[in-house]
Amino acid sequence: MFSSTHFLPDMGKCERLHGHNYQVEVELGGIPAKNGAIIDFNDLVPIVTRVVRPLDHYIIIASKDTRLTIIESESEVEIQFKDNRYIFPKNNCVMLPIKQTTVESLSKYLANRIGEVLIKSYPNIHWIDVLVREGQVQSASTKVLLKE
Ligand SMILES: [Zn+2]
Repeated sequence: MFSSTHFLPDMGKCERLHGHNYQVEVELGGIPAKNGAIIDFNDLVPIVTRVVRPLDHYIIIASKDTRLTIIESESEVEIQFKDNRYIFPKNNCVMLPIKQTTVESLSKYLANRIGEVLIKSYPNIHWIDVLVREGQVQSASTKVLLKE
């Protein structure tokens, strides 16, 4: 789980700055090792935590959103969108290389990042599916194939 602030341009009330307690669920498939597990949960949890924790209690900004004008100085991030102008302390922000901070984009980002780590050490894992939930009914997942 991670708690973050964001806003979604051109999406009604979500265009205003707000936050979520995001939940992340990781599902994976592959060939079990001799112990019967594809991966030990005690190994998986730290990998997921390492990828997710940098987002926790930060303002998430989609640095590839062309609707935003983003001006970064040494200590601040200024974002202009329509008539709104936000100025945040830079150390409160995480700039993600995505086009919007929807659950669809966040799940894709996290699935790719977690996949990059897993593919190095676990050749027996064939795919992962990362679901990001921002509310009771709002969620999206991305499946990434690690092996053809
Ligand atoms: Zn939201």
